[in-house]
Amino acid sequence: MTALSVSCEFFPPRSEKGMLNLHSVRQKLQVLKPEYYSVTFGAGGSTQEKTFETIVQIQQQVDAAPHLSCIGSTRDNILKLLQDYQKHGVHRIVALRGDQPSGWAGPLGEFNHANKLVEFIRAETGSHFHIEVAAYPEFHPESRNAKEDINYFKQKVAAGANSAITQYFYNADAYFRLLDSCAAQGIDIPIVPGIMPISNYEQLIRFSNVCGAEVPRWLQWRLRDFENDVAGLQAFGVDVMTDLCGQLLAGGAPGLHFYTLNQAELTLTITERLGLY
Ligand code: FAD
Repeated sequence: MTALSVSCEFFPPRSEKGMLNLHSVRQKLQVLKPEYYSVTFGAGGSTQEKTFETIVQIQQQVDAAPHLSCIGSTRDNILKLLQDYQKHGVHRIVALRGDQPSGWAGPLGEFNHANKLVEFIRAETGSHFHIEVAAYPEFHPESRNAKEDINYFKQKVAAGANSAITQYFYNADAYFRLLDSCAAQGIDIPIVPGIMPISNYEQLIRFSNVCGAEVPRWLQWRLRDFENDVAGLQAFGVDVMTDLCGQLLAGGAPGLHFYTLNQAELTLTITERLGLY
């Protein structure tokens, strides 16, 4: 087992076939001995029950961390979910505001921001849950300026967050600058970089435009050269990500959180190259 915290993120499969696939992905990833597996939660969406089912299944073998977003939800719904997770032995939560699904016409919910959700979890469940929150090395797309973004992050920590996972990024300096700003503000929780292996150019650009992660120009140009060559693109992506992860770990990152997109191979190749197993 490595001293670093390695964790892997999945989305909840919608079908029985997807569930079986995820089971086999987890079997492969076990070689990494991840500290936990997290499962995303669609704000106001239809996949919320699938998140619960997936978490309960994972928790039977290894620590599972449900993502829990508060947008569009109520105190009662969130409390019920927390209690259900407690009953199943879950003791880790990734607490988020979430995003409104496009075309969402429902209520915004009782909590505007993740700090209020963290406060609520602490008020209702004490220290039962290890609470992770989101951090943004390249800043959240809705933020007005860097200073404000860090101040709001500090509020989540003050509300009781134990650690943070970052949005993905391809520029190590953005992460190190975030650590510096947090240290200057007296924020001392572990901030684990979120790592998005590169598997598909169009998908990466689409995701990045939505979440405000920058794919540097040099990287976009290099990736475009692999049109119709998925294997070549992924091999190049592994080189880039191994290099990035190496820089992050050498610079003091406390671990790595992999956005696996329910695939094992790229995460395994990167971590093997890093000597993590
Ligand atoms: P917040 O911390 O509330 O911040 C949102 C914005 O509001 C920021 O601009 C912040 O600066 C500002 N802000 C914060 N507090 C205040 C305040 N008190 N007053 C005014 N402004 C404030 N989304 C999902 O729907 N499901 C998931 O499973 C999911 N998993 C994620 C996992 C990780 C590791 C990350 C990094 C993101 C994830 N997201 C997920 C996306 C996330 O929900 C969005 O980025 C969302 O827009 C913000 O969530 P947050 O928890 O960071 O919100």
